[in-house]
Amino acid sequence: MQARAAAMNDPHKAPISHPERVIFPDAGYTKGQLAGYYEAVGSLMLPFVATRPMSLVRCPQGQGKRCFFQKHDNGAFGPDVHHIPIREKDGGLEDYIYIDDGAGILACVQMGTIEFHVWGSRIDDVEAPDRMIFDLDPDDGLDFAVVTRAAEDIRDRLAGLGLTSFAMLSGGKGVHVVVPLVPGHSWDAHRDFAKRFAEALARAEPERFIATMSKARRKGRIFIDWLRNQRGSTAVAPYSVRARDGAPVAVPVTWPELRKMDNAHPYALVDADVLLKRGRAKGLDGWGVADQGLPES
Ligand code: ATP
Ligand code: MN
Ligand code: MN
Repeated sequence: MQARAAAMNDPHKAPISHPERVIFPDAGYTKGQLAGYYEAVGSLMLPFVATRPMSLVRCPQGQGKRCFFQKHDNGAFGPDVHHIPIREKDGGLEDYIYIDDGAGILACVQMGTIEFHVWGSRIDDVEAPDRMIFDLDPDDGLDFAVVTRAAEDIRDRLAGLGLTSFAMLSGGKGVHVVVPLVPGHSWDAHRDFAKRFAEALARAEPERFIATMSKARRKGRIFIDWLRNQRGSTAVAPYSVRARDGAPVAVPVTWPELRKMDNAHPYALVDADVLLKRGRAKGLDGWGVADQGLPES
């Protein structure tokens, strides 16, 4: 009930209603625990979510019940959740959601949000992406060691192009390889670069990688999902809880840590203290930060 107490002390923060409501039925975790988690890890999470257009996975009846992906504001989030009009493909403007502080995160939780997904650009210039993500989606049944090795190979190939990258466990099945970039290129340039990179890898090692979404052709391979790098795409944010059994969390890891992992969901909502301690430790304090631009090609 930590979240509720803190919210009560700050009139700007909407209190969490029904903190006792069970949101994760298998594990028995409540809405109050979910809010407590996000309040605890807010300082770690905010640098990666604040001022980015956001999509939310909301599950008002709890995980396992009907969840939906929400991109646009419906006006019900209150003053801590902000709007940014963004041009849609059809030319019209739509209000997207963004937050800039912990109160914003909690306002989303109050509305039944479990997962936070963000754009690869910020509200000051949504047309100028500042990161690239290679989302490694393994075929069912692939050993996780195969996935970590693939992530390392992608890291090495990126390093060959002068790019530093970082690994995140998705909290689901795969790993995201994250490349921070100084803004300065268009979405099309990012998309094309990511596509060419993934296709080159799939061509070089067709028995390991595939660069098309086809599940049927994934057999025993890893899909390098470069589509996260298109304008309007999102990826799950670091430290977001996932709406999956056990309330796993998306977690940044160091490359040496990644090698020791047996799955993409070693941490969960109840591990906030552990995550805080490790998130502030040397090795992770600079995670996701690098002063580098997209190579000219
Ligand atoms: P996993 O490791 O299990 O693949 P993931 O978060 O990478 O976890 P994906 O299925 O690969 O999951 O999805 C990649 C991204 O696509 C998500 O993080 C999310 O931002 C976006 N996405 C997922 N579902 C939707 C949806 N219904 N509408 C729009 N975007 C979605
Ligand atoms: Mn994925
Ligand atoms: Mn994917």
